[in-house]
Amino acid sequence: MTPERLPGHPHLAYRGDALHLEEVALDALAERFGTPLFVYSKAAMLQALAAYQRGFAGRDARVCYAMKANSSLAILQLFARAGCGFDIVSGGELQRALAAGADPTTIIFSGVGKTRAEMAAALQAGIGCFNVESEAELEVLSAVAQSLGLRAPVSLRVNPNVDAKTHPYISTGLKGNKFGIAHERALAAYRHAHALPGLRVVGIDCHIGSQITEAAPYLDALERVLDLVDAIEAAGITLEHLDFGGGLGIDYHGETPPAADALWAQLLERLDARGYGQRRLLVEPGRSLVGNAGVCLTEVLYLKPGEERSFCIVDAAMNDLPRPAMYQAYHGIVPLHGRPTLDAPLWEVVGPVCESGDWLGHDRALAVRAGDRLAVLSAGAYCMSMASNYNTRTRAAEVLVDGREAHLIRRRETLPELMRNEVLLP
Ligand code: PLP
Repeated sequence: MTPERLPGHPHLAYRGDALHLEEVALDALAERFGTPLFVYSKAAMLQALAAYQRGFAGRDARVCYAMKANSSLAILQLFARAGCGFDIVSGGELQRALAAGADPTTIIFSGVGKTRAEMAAALQAGIGCFNVESEAELEVLSAVAQSLGLRAPVSLRVNPNVDAKTHPYISTGLKGNKFGIAHERALAAYRHAHALPGLRVVGIDCHIGSQITEAAPYLDALERVLDLVDAIEAAGITLEHLDFGGGLGIDYHGETPPAADALWAQLLERLDARGYGQRRLLVEPGRSLVGNAGVCLTEVLYLKPGEERSFCIVDAAMNDLPRPAMYQAYHGIVPLHGRPTLDAPLWEVVGPVCESGDWLGHDRALAVRAGDRLAVLSAGAYCMSMASNYNTRTRAAEVLVDGREAHLIRRRETLPELMRNEVLLP
């Protein structure tokens, strides 16, 4: 029987009436490991990475996976083995990347609030670059590096004041955002960095937002950043690399973002035209490498039909899948058995958490009964890495599928683990 693929999810398909990820029946995984369960496709991740690698063929470029999207060790290991560096935003992410076998020189450290201890740990590990986000941070980093007898390689994250046309919470390149150094201040900040004894200026960086579905904001940001590069180099400060951040969107609900290779063909054309095509290039994609490689399996606990709304209460919740509650985000929801149909009752798909904000999908047509299992789609990015223990819920287990094989990459958290750092009063 020919598998029926789900649009936008080339590695997910119904074979017979059972949903498979690669060659593995998802219901069998839910049976074996329980629910909620995150399941990822190795092939989908490598295919997403390959689009960037194709786009950069023949260039001096590196993909630094923005591990905040999904920082599970086995996933980092997969990307490290595939040649990626890492974009980190905390000392914790540094330790995770190193534990997964990352080459420290391929690590770049972003974020507006690096502490002295985090800076020292990253300097001692020998990371490739700090993406500095303020002039105050420059001073502190220089002092920390000097105290260790080192010089910190730095790139300044500039804020090009470009509208990424995405949700306000994930738009980062506008003047009013907390990120980066204002375009107008950037040249002065570069002079400042160049003069500080503990720093070595190596690059420039910009990241304008996330879930970007058009090429235009990238092209605008590129021109604005290259204007700055012209000015910085005219001032006698040479930049070894240009970092264009991450942010490329994925298809959650019919969005049509450009493919990474097509986007980079356009950007490289502009870089070539302006004489920077042979410069070392870095990118920091997160979501576009992992988002559509993952699903979250969940079981229907109860159906609660009502006059105004009918609720389908499942065992996954906002603590597992925070994006709907945080950003009103859409995730597709499909049955593990049978096929998606529009010809079924509409349900509010909600979790057990005691918050009205704990919903996973509104008005979903589902032919379901209690005990059935569902897959929440596009759950590879910003789900497990944002998961919490709210309502004292243990975090889900994770499985990586590779062809016919399934590897448990994270055991389900246990209640004793969850309480182990707490201390009762005497
Ligand atoms: N780089 C930086 C500095 C970021 O803040 C982020 C996301 O917030 C990313 C890269 C990754 O973005 P995305 O997952 O949208 O590719």
